[in-house]
Amino acid sequence: MPRRNIVFLCGFSFFFGSLWLMFRQLDGQQKSEIVLRSSDSRLMDMHSRLGILEDELKDSKITIQKLRSGLDDLIELSRADNAHGPRRLEIVNSIVNKEHPQPKGFPRSSFNFSVEANPTCQDLNYDGSKCDIEMNDLYGVIDWSDSNGGVWKQGFEISTNDQEWQGRVLKIHVVPHSHNDPGWLKTYEDYFRLQTRHILDNIVDHLSLDHRRRFIWAEMSYLSMWYDVADPGRREKAKNLIKNGQLEIVTGGWVMNDEANTHYFAMIDQLIEGHEWLSRTFDVIPKSSWAIDPFGHTPTMAYLLKRMGFSNMLIQRVHYSVKKEFARKKSLEFRWRQEWDKGDSTDITCHMMPFYSYDVPHTCGPDPKVCCQFDFGRLPGMRRNCPWGTPARAITDENVEERAKLLLDQYRKKSKLFGTDTLLVILGDDFRYDKMQEVEAQFSNYAKLFEYINSHRDLRAEIKFSTLSEYFDGMLSDVGGTAKLPSLAGDFFTYADRQDHYWSGYYTSRPFYKTQERNLEAHQRGAEILFSLAMPVAKSAGILDSFSKALFPLVKKSRRNLGLFQHHDGITGTAKDPVVIDYGKKIKSSIMDAKEVISRCAELVLLRNPSEFKTTKAITIDYDAILATHDQPEEKVTVVIDKTAAQPTTVVIYNSLSHDRSGLVRLIVTDHKVQVVNSDNMPVPSQTNVIWTGPTSTRLDQFELVFAATVAATGLATYKISHMPQTPHNSLSVIKILNAPSDAELCCFDDFSIETLSTSNAVFTLENEELEVSFSTRNGFMREVVTKRDNVKMEVGIDFGVYTARGGKERAGAYLFLPEGPARPHLSEADRPVVRIVAGSLLKEVHVLAKNVEHVVSLHVTNKIGPSPFGIHVTNKVDIRSGMDNKELSMRVTAPDAAARDGQTFYTDLNGLQMQKRKTDLKKIPIQANFYPMPTMAFIQNEKTRLTVLTAQPRGVASLLPSQIEIVLDRRMMQDDNRGMAQPMKDNLRTHDRFVILIERWRGGDSAKPTGANQFPSVLSHHSLLDVLHPMWTMHYKGVDPAQVSPRFKDSFVPMPGSDPGAGESNLPCSVHIVNVRSLESKERDDVPVDEAALILQNFGHECGLDSATRYKAACVASRHDNSISVQTLYPMTSIKPVSLSLQRDGDQQAVRENFVIEPMEVKSFRVTLK
Ligand SMILES: [Zn+2]
Repeated sequence: MPRRNIVFLCGFSFFFGSLWLMFRQLDGQQKSEIVLRSSDSRLMDMHSRLGILEDELKDSKITIQKLRSGLDDLIELSRADNAHGPRRLEIVNSIVNKEHPQPKGFPRSSFNFSVEANPTCQDLNYDGSKCDIEMNDLYGVIDWSDSNGGVWKQGFEISTNDQEWQGRVLKIHVVPHSHNDPGWLKTYEDYFRLQTRHILDNIVDHLSLDHRRRFIWAEMSYLSMWYDVADPGRREKAKNLIKNGQLEIVTGGWVMNDEANTHYFAMIDQLIEGHEWLSRTFDVIPKSSWAIDPFGHTPTMAYLLKRMGFSNMLIQRVHYSVKKEFARKKSLEFRWRQEWDKGDSTDITCHMMPFYSYDVPHTCGPDPKVCCQFDFGRLPGMRRNCPWGTPARAITDENVEERAKLLLDQYRKKSKLFGTDTLLVILGDDFRYDKMQEVEAQFSNYAKLFEYINSHRDLRAEIKFSTLSEYFDGMLSDVGGTAKLPSLAGDFFTYADRQDHYWSGYYTSRPFYKTQERNLEAHQRGAEILFSLAMPVAKSAGILDSFSKALFPLVKKSRRNLGLFQHHDGITGTAKDPVVIDYGKKIKSSIMDAKEVISRCAELVLLRNPSEFKTTKAITIDYDAILATHDQPEEKVTVVIDKTAAQPTTVVIYNSLSHDRSGLVRLIVTDHKVQVVNSDNMPVPSQTNVIWTGPTSTRLDQFELVFAATVAATGLATYKISHMPQTPHNSLSVIKILNAPSDAELCCFDDFSIETLSTSNAVFTLENEELEVSFSTRNGFMREVVTKRDNVKMEVGIDFGVYTARGGKERAGAYLFLPEGPARPHLSEADRPVVRIVAGSLLKEVHVLAKNVEHVVSLHVTNKIGPSPFGIHVTNKVDIRSGMDNKELSMRVTAPDAAARDGQTFYTDLNGLQMQKRKTDLKKIPIQANFYPMPTMAFIQNEKTRLTVLTAQPRGVASLLPSQIEIVLDRRMMQDDNRGMAQPMKDNLRTHDRFVILIERWRGGDSAKPTGANQFPSVLSHHSLLDVLHPMWTMHYKGVDPAQVSPRFKDSFVPMPGSDPGAGESNLPCSVHIVNVRSLESKERDDVPVDEAALILQNFGHECGLDSATRYKAACVASRHDNSISVQTLYPMTSIKPVSLSLQRDGDQQAVRENFVIEPMEVKSFRVTLK
């Protein structure tokens, strides 16, 4: 086509586009305004008419501005005519589509968004895994009564006699262990210094004395710390003991992670960290896992271990009634299978311990009074005793017969709960074997017992010290292989150890640090990915050594601090105050380190000449948020806009997610009249808000700038902000205040319209392209939502509830939730909180300043691209330090139209990996038993509607009413709950919680799906969650002459070829998420990364039967029938090889060349060499 024709065509398109734009402007008039529906307010009416007139006047101005800007575009276009082909077409595209509500294509910077993201339906298992034991079914029929079982209080009488053992031999494996918490009553370092160091010294020394002795060790955080300071002789001994099998490493994670609040990213990460260290130091790969203390157990752990190549796992803290039921059925050993598994590929052998605790009194057999006597760490004179009245007794020649028979009786009784004649008996407790005297006492006294039992064949028993794997090997050979064990699907929440003492408090305890943990997780992931992508750049610039030496130690430290907090007294919020502060400081410093890594890597990859990068030089690209202290939320750094400068201020935005992404970015700036342009110098829509200093007062010198940004997958984009007194692309928000105090000064910036409204029974409405949300003018709380796509109105309310801890001797604390009854409303009908309504072209918000919580509901406008316009975004700034002693505050989202038809079913996630069906049952189990972990989401649904609440931070959740999702926000407990922490929990902090509410409707023909055993979030839901967990981060240039930014730095970093426009369907499939790109360490030194990285990919299972599937647009491949991933769409790389999930075992050895498939629900690791 001749160039002139193109120019004409473009001019025509522009004219048509402008007309359409003007039409939309008038049509959309009220949309950026707040719509008030009032019955009898003439004044209001007049007021709003005046407002409309005023707006029309403004609009005319805007239209003129737009025409002017359009003319500029035309001029630019004619310039572009001289440019080369592809570049010109991009400009044409962007002009036609600028601000166009229904784009046909997108400007270059918007990448390759699929027109309609109707993802291919995956072949998912809706029916459940058809196991021998379905936990969900079992929970419905189990006997929850706490009847007295005799010596085994929570169980039943077990009898045995010599007769039974004729012709059989009981093979007893005694497994010594010491449970070392990396922080609980003391800090991680203090425990190490005072106890763990000596424990490991003792073990290594005493195992080396006798080859028959055994020990197991679980926490690599401690073993590595010990290894660093141990003398060379002991290091060598440890190596030999591991090599000859006397010392077995179990699980091998950095810590024994919590299983309720943790996200699978951090679970995998802390396991990799431990396994890498183990492989480098001892050249060993664990095969059995050991989790004796986490407060409830998740199948996610079983899945991850299986994919890491583990054969066996052991769990302990399971509800006493469940244990009793399993013991009766002799099913304490089973094959744990994922509920979504169609076959048995996820099966892993699991042993559930039968009794109350993992200490010696509760592990040798059913009678703690007897078992306690065989804890030789409780011999008279050794700090501990037996609370059952009979002390431990040393074994002598005189008493050995009687003692051995007494103990054997317990072993035999215990063995009757299992299906084999192989018995596991663990021998240890918290921080045991720290004194030489104790170590010697345990090993030598048991040796005497062993000798007696083994030499008296009439006792029909063989007994020895074993490791966990030796036990599993023996048991499996006895039973005839794993396949002979019953299969099981489901989870083990919520845990109760006795009476109605349910451990659902820790799902929320210390919520500030739970929030910070997710913040660190996101930063850590962001830093890992960008660091791995920057490595090849550094290599080709010849600065690899200095670059990696400067930044890798920060990456490494941050991995370990994130890992440490996954500990079951870390993220759970169940440590003493000084320990919590210690964790908090570590988290803070690692978030700041990760920010530094991200900004330094951004600098390197954006430099036109990367060899200019100096690791020692001051930071050039700085983060826009800092953590000043460990106990306060992040603060935004103010970006200075110089009104007089010729050059604009440049900000850099990082999208750590796997797909090109569009969304709103929020900055603090010094100017309210600004224009934001993208890297093509095309203006993007922006909005300026005031910053509040009090309920109705604002700052005069700083503002919040919101703009719509688009950034490539795991890439960077730059945007420029300049002072601009008049621009159609920026709007100031309009503010109205309800319930303002009569003496309130409505301060006071002329350019912003701030006015008060009187309270009435009316509702006011905010809307975007997808939703119309109504709020009460009385108290500002949400009332109704209209989904515009189907024009269905439904009641969706939010309110806050308060639980009061019940009285009595045993009260709620950090672990336990023990309410005196149902929640009461936090606010009364008469409460009239100040309500601010802030509406602009991109962001519309309602701020409710209620007591103890500032509740903000937001709608986003981003041209329907990206997940955010579909969500109702909720932020709660929670502070319960006043008036809330022994109370818990919850948020309740109520939607009668989404209520489960059976009145009891709802769904919560497990570790962000999978959904678990829950059944509320207030008749059989108390309120606190009906609360579950909510690491990332929960939903209620019926055959029409699904209502999902996504959370950016782990909390406890319930659905006590079929129409309701209730999330516990914070809890303040003024006493200890007798689980060892020995202090109240009243160190509450101001905490910012973020949630997203999604309303989706089932499309026709899928009526069976909403009732299936397995449910899956939609692609929209997955992407919304990723969006809220991994927000786009902003950085800005610091100390660089603005005039030098463009010459020295590129305006974007696009690491994945799929982000290239015109490359067709070359993006990753919608359901594929890059979990991590983690640089690997050298085998020789842990402070130096090698060329290789671990690429961890997830194919999340997604529901395609919801209407969001036809509405939501994302930059991903919507339909590739086999859901395969093309290697070409990933990063440029020279090799990619599948390996086990924690990288230690080779996969099928075959390097991947073309397309490869990750089955839905699976997470897979690859060793890759990036180029
Ligand atoms: Zn513990």
